[in-house]
Amino acid sequence: MAQSLLKTEQLNNFIDGKWVETNESAAVVNPANGETIVNVPLSDDGSVNTAVEAAKKAQKEWALVPAPQRAEVLLKVGQMMKERKERLSQLLTMENGKVLEEARGEVQEGIDMAFYMAGEGRRLFGHTTPAELPNKFSMSQRFPVGVVGIITPWNFPIAIATWKSFPAIVAGNAVIWKPATETPIMAYELAKIFEEAGLPKGVLNVVYGKGSSVGDAMVNHDDIRVISFTGSNDTGRHIASECGKQLKKVSLEMGGKNAVIVMDDADLDLAVEGIIWSAYGTSGQRCTAASRVIVHEDVKERLEERLLVEIEKLTIGDGLDEANKVGPIINKAGLEKIQKYTQIGREEGASMIAGGYVLDEGDYRKGHYFAPTLFTDCTPDMRISQEEIFGPVISLIPVKSFEEAIEVNNGVTFGLSSSIFTTDANRIFKAQRDLDTGIVYVNAGTTGAEIHLPFGGTKGTGNGHRDSGVQALDVFTEWKAVYVDYSGKLQRAQIDTE
Ligand code: NAP
Repeated sequence: MAQSLLKTEQLNNFIDGKWVETNESAAVVNPANGETIVNVPLSDDGSVNTAVEAAKKAQKEWALVPAPQRAEVLLKVGQMMKERKERLSQLLTMENGKVLEEARGEVQEGIDMAFYMAGEGRRLFGHTTPAELPNKFSMSQRFPVGVVGIITPWNFPIAIATWKSFPAIVAGNAVIWKPATETPIMAYELAKIFEEAGLPKGVLNVVYGKGSSVGDAMVNHDDIRVISFTGSNDTGRHIASECGKQLKKVSLEMGGKNAVIVMDDADLDLAVEGIIWSAYGTSGQRCTAASRVIVHEDVKERLEERLLVEIEKLTIGDGLDEANKVGPIINKAGLEKIQKYTQIGREEGASMIAGGYVLDEGDYRKGHYFAPTLFTDCTPDMRISQEEIFGPVISLIPVKSFEEAIEVNNGVTFGLSSSIFTTDANRIFKAQRDLDTGIVYVNAGTTGAEIHLPFGGTKGTGNGHRDSGVQALDVFTEWKAVYVDYSGKLQRAQIDTE
């Protein structure tokens, strides 16, 4: 099926508007059934150097194209993504494993981002402000940075790339994009769309290859002035320290240990729906996935009972079969990590009341599947309550009060997303103020970000930047302050003001 959709067995780099072959490549495997879908190039620093040279040249001209005209390309890209949505979604499910309904949602996020960022072509607002001296004008403007590097993970192969590349392109930058080797197809499809939409050659370049070669070469290239990275904390820390040595701007979006708080006054049916969707959707492989449930002790038993009923109903299997609600884990390493944490949970004394095992019988044997898992009676300091597992595993932590729930939520090194189920208006307002995360949901699970709001986290989740929203432009632009003195004489700021 992949072949009938893709029409190629070999992906190529997209450099300077051309599809460029490489010597080495690796097989891309469908995590649902172990079948090879396509081969992905394994490039080296030579490809990065060629792409940067092309990008430098293209960027000079692209920056001079009026932003509303740059935006026209994004409008076309959004329209083409819309027309190809079903095809893109099916390919996304094949390379990543997430169920088709979620894949459609992810592609839609990219479409939304295209139209939203196209609008920025007519805004890209700066400020005008009064000058402190007479006959003087002052303003601030955004300017492109130049050539920017984006490095993306496998868990959102298209949405995250659009959060980064669309604002970069509309702001007048040229992009070098290294997609995750695990999921290269969305990059191929998006580059083809840009090519057909008429983006000048060299403005978007896709270089495939391992993080340790292509990613590293990008991070260390003098002419790539920004690195925008989404992925794990280990990789992010490494990239940040390398960029720090070069005084290179770096934007990091990394892991989470997101919690749903369920108070004693919550609508429990709604809370259960929210938990199941945000904990087990995408098999828990979302940076915003709920992996902790912090529950008031008075409703703990009732919540557990209802969760167990809903877990039992979850259908697990190939995401292309629309009967399935939970897809596979991305690869064997991911599966082993989840298994390791369930063992840790047992050893720490948490009670495992659902799941906890690899599904490896019948058709499951061909892919990587893990049963939705629920640990209860966890304490906040257990490793399964603190560390990112990145799988369908919930650690349920009982608390005695609203204040304790907030404290437990904030007592982790991450700060991406949090959620609270309560019907008390005072608690709602206190919670949105006190939950120390970049995203807060009230009476909804921990997932479901919309692209026109800033996406990112506090503390160990990032370094203060945001993807999506108008805030994404800050990563890809430099502010310039411009003073125009029309007094005809030298006026000295702070001195000639009296
Ligand atoms: P990862 O292993 O850190 O990989 C992310 C990207 O970095 C991949 O393209 C990878 O390339 C590349 N990379 C690896 N080593 C590198 C190096 N030394 N230099 C430059 N690039 C390098 O993360 P992942 O496993 O793909 O993604 C899962 C993680 O992403 C989770 O922790 C999740 O929470 C996080 N995430 C965060 C957000 C957010 O917005 N906060 C969103 C989604 C995911 P290769 O894999 O091709 O080698």
